[in-house]
Amino acid sequence: MEHEFKPLLYRFQLLLLVRLLFQAVCPGIGVSEGAITRNHKPGQTKVSPGFLLSVSSVQPGPGGNFRPWLFVGKDQGMIIVMKSGASQKDKDVVLKCIKELGYTSHVIHGKTRDVIGAIGDERGKLALQALESLHGVENVVSILQPYKLASLEVKKESSVVRISDDVVIGGPQIVVMAGPCSVENEEQIIESAIAVKKAGAHILRGGAFKPRTSPYSFQGLEEEGLKLLAKARDLTGLPFVTEVIDPETADMVAAYSDILQIGARNSQNFALLKKVGQIGKPVLLKRGMAMTIQELLMSAEYIMSEGNQSVILCERGIRTFETATRNTLDLSAIPVLKGKTHLPVVVDPSHGTGNHHYVAPMSYAAVAAGADGLIVEVHPDPEHAASDGAQSLKPAKFEAMMQKLRLFAEVDGRTL
Ligand code: PEP
Ligand code: MN
Repeated sequence: MEHEFKPLLYRFQLLLLVRLLFQAVCPGIGVSEGAITRNHKPGQTKVSPGFLLSVSSVQPGPGGNFRPWLFVGKDQGMIIVMKSGASQKDKDVVLKCIKELGYTSHVIHGKTRDVIGAIGDERGKLALQALESLHGVENVVSILQPYKLASLEVKKESSVVRISDDVVIGGPQIVVMAGPCSVENEEQIIESAIAVKKAGAHILRGGAFKPRTSPYSFQGLEEEGLKLLAKARDLTGLPFVTEVIDPETADMVAAYSDILQIGARNSQNFALLKKVGQIGKPVLLKRGMAMTIQELLMSAEYIMSEGNQSVILCERGIRTFETATRNTLDLSAIPVLKGKTHLPVVVDPSHGTGNHHYVAPMSYAAVAAGADGLIVEVHPDPEHAASDGAQSLKPAKFEAMMQKLRLFAEVDGRTL
């Protein structure tokens, strides 16, 4: 008897305390016992340990501001799912409330309805929950993962990243980016661009700024390299992806390129991630050599939280005890990522293996495992390449690979 009574008593006291505190701080919001739930079914989920409560109405208190500072906690994200017919006015009201609560909002447009991510700390969580009673709101749910905007919880449909009028990554087409590791001179990049285009590639790759392990290795042609890439684009119509290595040169790289590549060595350079988030151009984010899948998603979150949703994730191999290949290409990352994020996933079999012999088989395997695209190193004269010659395909070999890749894509119901 005492057994059953005590928890009930605690629950009642706690509810009373919460009610008094909440009403003192947010006079416009009514609190009553009942249930408001994550999936909005009466009588189901506990809002926080030990008690059930419902926030019955949303009216800003005096001065128009909520001040729910009594709930101190960690990083928190909530999704406000709008009804499919919600008007712009409904969304504007939600956005205004989110701002007043001190949260940052991110509108994500879905096929049938919009969802609004509200990112901030846990203090305003209960008041955010109260937005459920606003007109046009379907429900409000917590985002459980530490990455929020990248999460499948916030967006159930796969995201597509538009690169140009003809090229979209994350749609039914497998998108292939190909070209040399580094831009070396005009002849080399133009020859490469023409060859990869002829073989069916959709995007040209080429490094102008090279983050080399040794300070004595070729560091890239820098702005001259970007100009040559732009020339190759003018000639072939292929958009290009190139690496950005620091926040100082990021604007310059963005002025030329179609996709900004964040390399494995920079994938937790948070200042750089924020910078490319602010620039807003599509970003190809490579996995770091010792990065977990969750850390990769957290890096994507850095970019997205700055307002740039055009992020493409890239598995390029991780460092393991194995020395037979340059890295261990973790193809299981593809289905794992697909179960966690709506962002497109591409694979780099060149850096993933370090050996041109292994590039084609791993490309087929990547497509079979559900990759949305590939980034492959191709060089007209790999023996004399300034960087990564050993893993670069000659144009003829790349062309043969593309033909076979088409068959793998078709088996998976995709095009190339
Ligand atoms: C590259 O693409 O040439 C490169 C340096 O890749 P990663 O950052 O994956 O090593
Ligand atoms: Mn390379």
